[in-house]
Amino acid sequence: MGSEFKTYDLVILGAGAAGLMSAITAGKRGKKVLILEKSNKVGKKILMSGGGKSNFTNLYVEPKNFISANAYFCISALNRYKPDDFIDLVKKHNIPFEQKKHNQLFCVNSSKDIVNMLLKECDDVGVEIITHCDTRLIKPLAQKGVKRLSNQTDKMRYEIKGIFSNSNVDFWFLTESTIIATGALSIPTLGGSGYGYDVAREYSLELLNRRAGLVPFMFSGSIKEISDRLSGTSLEVEVSCNDHKFLESLLFTHRGISGPSILQISSYWLPGDSIILNLMPHDDAQSLLLNAKKEKEGILLRTFLSKLLPKALVLELQNLWWSGFSEKPFAELNNKLLMSIGANLNRWELKPSETEGYRTAEVTLGGVNTDGVSSKTMESINYPGLYFVGEVLDVSGHLGGFNFQWAWASGYTAGLYA
Ligand SMILES: Cc1cc2nc3c(=O)[nH]c(=O)nc-3n(C[C@H](O)[C@H](O)[C@H](O)COP(=O)(O)OP(=O)(O)OC[C@H]3O[C@@H](n4cnc5c(N)ncnc54)[C@H](O)[C@@H]3O)c2cc1C
Repeated sequence: MGSEFKTYDLVILGAGAAGLMSAITAGKRGKKVLILEKSNKVGKKILMSGGGKSNFTNLYVEPKNFISANAYFCISALNRYKPDDFIDLVKKHNIPFEQKKHNQLFCVNSSKDIVNMLLKECDDVGVEIITHCDTRLIKPLAQKGVKRLSNQTDKMRYEIKGIFSNSNVDFWFLTESTIIATGALSIPTLGGSGYGYDVAREYSLELLNRRAGLVPFMFSGSIKEISDRLSGTSLEVEVSCNDHKFLESLLFTHRGISGPSILQISSYWLPGDSIILNLMPHDDAQSLLLNAKKEKEGILLRTFLSKLLPKALVLELQNLWWSGFSEKPFAELNNKLLMSIGANLNRWELKPSETEGYRTAEVTLGGVNTDGVSSKTMESINYPGLYFVGEVLDVSGHLGGFNFQWAWASGYTAGLYA
């Protein structure tokens, strides 16, 4: 087992969205930049994002689209690097893209276009990228008093050990600055890792509780069975929890519920909380049913509701709420029962047993407390030259391109200073 030493102005850990953007920005400033990536290829989450078409940004990005213990932290970086800046880059590379609902921008062809664009930009400014390298031991040189190397300048502040899965030589990288862009815990098979938190702990930065966000809900008992039977059925709902609500589609799955509305609200849900589903968000269901009773006396309630909701769902609701009256025409249903069904349609309270967790979560909520990091530079306040960007920080976006915009913006900001 041998050892080799190399020196850089900047070593970035993690070749994901934030790491690549940091590298491009620092490279444009003439810095000698190296990215160390643990897995076999770069930008795995970008490749998988947006169903393979990457929802790479959103036309309207505001601080209210982000969740963080410090709601103001993200503002400076988001102002410094805007959606238009990334769109200009996409246009420069002639990548076809399209606007979908809620101002979300997607590639027309493939998210590979975004990764290739970032790699080309890295290449243009001489960024070196090494994959298969698990990084360990980031040590501040000043405190270690390590033996000086002939190519080590006084500016070198950190020493990083790289362990290669395809070599038995350990590499030591000496660098003036290091950016932690190792992402977070979601989807380990796509590079999800807690390494950034280990570094934060080593440098006494506080960690805020982490949990899965933008993640489907699971249920036990009868709601799990209903979800299983309805698997594949979708409809537009308004879902609310803890004073937040989202009007988007819901999808029943074998395990529970998913779809954009559910992923969004999951970021505000805590274990034990109920969520409220409004299955008829554009109607007052009680008035609708009472009026319909007058006009459609002879028809069955399920026939009426099946014109407004998926038929399979109506049959399940019938079993839950009016099974004893399922064959009675509207005229024979008393107003009290209709009022109760109407109330449930607008406020169906469900208690998820848990989320699907990091296995399928798009983001990790919580993370490195931003109190220990400068919002202007992303540099840690107590350790000059140590930067944190992207999802490892306690900043998580809503669904819709906001998480990538945070990765681009925070990466760009650190790249300007590191
Ligand atoms: C399935 C899926 C779909 C998504 N779709 C979208 C979308 O369409 N739009 C959107 O805005 N957001 C989307 N997101 C969220 C978005 O992908 C993340 O918020 C974003 O990738 C975070 O960027 P990052 O650079 O901080 O971390 P990552 O992109 O996760 O990059 C971190 C990198 O660090 C590497 N790494 C980890 N540990 C080490 C180590 N010890 N040493 C070296 N390297 C290491 C990892 O392998 C990885 O390559 C999606 C997420 C998932 C999981």
